Amino acid sequence: MAYKTTNPYTNEVEKEYTQSSPQEVEQALAAGHKLYQQWRSGAGLAERKTVITKLGQLLRERRTALAEIMTRDMGKLIGEAEGEVDLCASFCDYYVQKADEFLAPEPIYTPTGNAYVLKQASGIIMAVEPWNFPFYQIARVFIPNFLVGNPMILKDASNCPTSAQAFADLVAEAGAPTGSLTNLFVDYDQVGEIIADKRVQGVCLTGSERGGKAVATEAAKNLKKNTMELGGNDAFLVLPDADIDKLAKIIPAARLYNAGQVCTSSKRFIVPDNLYDEFLSRAKEAFANVKMGDPLDRTTTLAPMNSQRAKEKLQKQVDLAIENGAHVYYGNQPVDLPGQFFMPTILTDISKDNPVFDQELFGPVMVVYKYHDLDEAIALANDSSFGLGNTVFGEDVQKARQVAAKIEAGMTWINAGWASLPELPFGGIKHSGYGRELAKQGILSFVNEHLVYEAE
Ligand code: NAP
Repeated sequence: MAYKTTNPYTNEVEKEYTQSSPQEVEQALAAGHKLYQQWRSGAGLAERKTVITKLGQLLRERRTALAEIMTRDMGKLIGEAEGEVDLCASFCDYYVQKADEFLAPEPIYTPTGNAYVLKQASGIIMAVEPWNFPFYQIARVFIPNFLVGNPMILKDASNCPTSAQAFADLVAEAGAPTGSLTNLFVDYDQVGEIIADKRVQGVCLTGSERGGKAVATEAAKNLKKNTMELGGNDAFLVLPDADIDKLAKIIPAARLYNAGQVCTSSKRFIVPDNLYDEFLSRAKEAFANVKMGDPLDRTTTLAPMNSQRAKEKLQKQVDLAIENGAHVYYGNQPVDLPGQFFMPTILTDISKDNPVFDQELFGPVMVVYKYHDLDEAIALANDSSFGLGNTVFGEDVQKARQVAAKIEAGMTWINAGWASLPELPFGGIKHSGYGRELAKQGILSFVNEHLVYEAE
């Protein structure tokens, strides 16, 4: 497996990395385990909070330089990358502020004695992370686990190694002891070996259904607790009373942010017949007005996709949809630029027997469905193997809440596109995975809830 930064705007290989050796893997395990042994009783939280406070400061001080590393790795717009750095810094603030509360022992009433639950570290966590938010994905698992006292070994996506190493270097610079976060350039077999090691007690993966199944299988074979944050084919359900002007303002970000490569970006727009034609025309206007170009240029509004492989996969899916009866309402034309650009595309008329009906289209492609009856729309939203983050959009908020409660998903946004904030638990159901990251739920994912009982 080759770890390299291939800039998706220029197609140039900017950096290459050599695979981590068995000795480097062992060093990471030994250093991490030593830290776990020091921290497992709950010791060192104050020092770890100081490290995370410093990490937040460094992220803010180096915002643009760090953002550029991500843009070169996987092509995202520089402004979006800066926003990602800010979001990571906000995770530092949030967890430093809340760690004592979240990790405090929890008293349990029992008439027979005295009992309480300690929130303790459980051991090294193996984190397998994707390229689409190179810093955010690491930050949202590393920061809470470090505060708990769980050291982490990171295997990041092979196409964003420079970002992963930059994040790990920043953590070290913030004062984290060696072994707190070790970024390794390992292949899939080495990931399996690390998971099997008895010093590793947890596994978290963000990625595709395919990657999730493979890594969850390794975790299950070795009885390691795991969380899976996988793909989505999320619905954006427009209610008949929706304000089309408000809707038009959020359509571009809901679908095109990060070149459409967001697990929770709305992928299926389910629109009532009274708004269908107007919706399509507004979406087309928004898609036609994007400016593709250098993602480091602040006037660019649509980034290239992260890699040639991703672009080719998306094109194959769009071709397959069309072969099976989908109508191209807009887009699907070649883009005359050297980078991995995919023209924003709008597809309609995808029937349930179309092979892409239940597939995630991970790029700037919007699929639009028309409905007449609301129950039919809810059934369509739920007719998916995935269940990550959906949107319900309408003027009557009470009605929107009733609809939200009927959606099968880990997260639903009312009158907003997808979002991620430190205090909001993030995760899905069905093939979108299990477990939650961020918020209180995230910090407790790999905590040993250690019951202590004292007889009277
Ligand atoms: P992917 O192929 O599953 O890759 C994700 C990570 O898993 C990478 O580090 C990859 O390494 C690694 N990996 C894949 N197969 C593996 C195996 N058999 N053993 C060990 N490691 C393995 O995912 P992707 O397609 O690049 O990422 C996009 C997907 O992530 C989309 O489906 C998106 O919806 C999902 N996602 C979900 C969330 C969420 O929170 N639910 C957030 C963001 C993205 P290599 O790069 O070396 O292959």
